[in-house]
Amino acid sequence: MRSSRRTFLITSIGVASTFALSRQAFADAPKVAETDPTAQALGYRADASTVDKAKFAKFAPGQDCGNCSFFQGKAGDAFGGCPMFPGKQVSAKGWCSAYNKKA
Ligand code: SF4
Repeated sequence: MRSSRRTFLITSIGVASTFALSRQAFADAPKVAETDPTAQALGYRADASTVDKAKFAKFAPGQDCGNCSFFQGKAGDAFGGCPMFPGKQVSAKGWCSAYNKKA
C-alpha cells in the first residue's frame, strides 16, 4: 500500500515536470517571420493592421490570431502556437488568410 502511494506520487511529479518543461520549451519556440515561405503563402502579418486588404478581401478589421479558432495560446497571451506554423508561434495581433473566427 505504502509503496503504491509512493509510486503514484513519483509518477505525478514526473508528469507535472514533463508538462512544465514542454510549456517552457514552447514558450521559447521561434516567432513566425513574415519572410517565412508559409507565412508568405498564407499572407501572414504579425500586425493585422498591415494586412494587404486589396489582396485579402476577406480580411475585416478586428480579426486577428487572438480570436482565431486555430490560435493555441491562452486568452491574453501575446504569442501562441498555430497548426499552420508547426513548432513556431504567431502573434496574437497577427493574421493570415486561414483565419477562422473562434466560436
Ligand atoms: S490560422 Fe489563425 S491563428 Fe494561425 S496564423 Fe492564421 S489567423 Fe493566426
